[in-house]
Amino acid sequence: MKILVNDGMEESGIEALRQHGFEVITQKIAQEDLFNELQQFDGIIVRSATKVRKELIDACPQLKFIARGGVGMDNIDVEYARLKNIVVINTPASSSRSVAELAMVHLLACTRGLASSIRSVHDPSSFQSTKKTLSECREIKGKNLLLLGFGRIGSELAKMALGSEMNILVFDPFIEQASVEMNIGSHKIVFKPEMIEFGEGLARADYISLHAPFSGQAILNEEAFEKMKSGVIIINTSRGENIDEAALINNLNSGKVRAAGLDVFQNEPNINPEIIQHPNVCISPHIGASTQEAQARIAEELVEKIASVFSK
Ligand code: NAD
Repeated sequence: MKILVNDGMEESGIEALRQHGFEVITQKIAQEDLFNELQQFDGIIVRSATKVRKELIDACPQLKFIARGGVGMDNIDVEYARLKNIVVINTPASSSRSVAELAMVHLLACTRGLASSIRSVHDPSSFQSTKKTLSECREIKGKNLLLLGFGRIGSELAKMALGSEMNILVFDPFIEQASVEMNIGSHKIVFKPEMIEFGEGLARADYISLHAPFSGQAILNEEAFEKMKSGVIIINTSRGENIDEAALINNLNSGKVRAAGLDVFQNEPNINPEIIQHPNVCISPHIGASTQEAQARIAEELVEKIASVFSK
């Protein structure tokens, strides 16, 4: 069986596929050339760059599987592929810890004003004034963190926030009770955070972190911002569309939102300049899943899934 790895993959995964007897080609084929070139392959492994749309699927009737290293499958016409009996694989759990850690990084960075702090030290004349302004910052201990979505990533962030003695509130309309298990030394601790209604959660939160999929409408729209406490900090590592960016900018400008830590944006990679330049916004370029550990787990999970279906 011949497999094209078109957006890169950990070497360990490529090696493991070869050990399972697959022929693996890692040379990148440009999107426009795939219509001809993909016809020689039985499977394709992509990340988010390569698009596998209906037209490409129709051009390659020999294709047996499409594998996505990572979670989101916006770049693949999944339903259509399955209709054509093509196996579609992804690795939803592999990067959860990495994304949760980045959310925690943003939470701490926003808390201590690191984005404006880093900008200001380039200019010695603002060193003292920034030092004075940032002395108004607070600690995270004892503050309310509202998690919007308590799946793989939300629950991982809860563990870190609990370790920092934050008070966890959860809004997730699809689960009855949130629960996290942590191993501390030889002790197993089970913690059940408080479940809360959306509006009440917004009103009580010092921090709001989004961990839900995008379902066609922004979760944090102007109406939601109106319900929030003044001085709230917002973290988004989920999907850019989950926040109405225009409403976020208005509320940052008015000071109602004290700071925002964002890994995802409505229009990537062309981020709204008002967001980029805002002194109270901490930005990363959609790198939640980009750690060595996550990449290694993604490769391992892909190989396991592909081998379990197609290994001779
Ligand atoms: P998951 O499916 O494990 O959990 C999502 C949770 O959100 C579920 O418990 C679901 O019930 C809940 N939910 C659905 N709609 C909701 C709503 N309107 N309000 C509140 N909760 C709601 O997903 P996950 O793996 O934890 O991923 C969460 C998000 O992170 C997704 O949007 C995913 O695309 C994103 N993500 C980002 C990166 C990155 O690089 N930044 C990487 C991986 C995943």
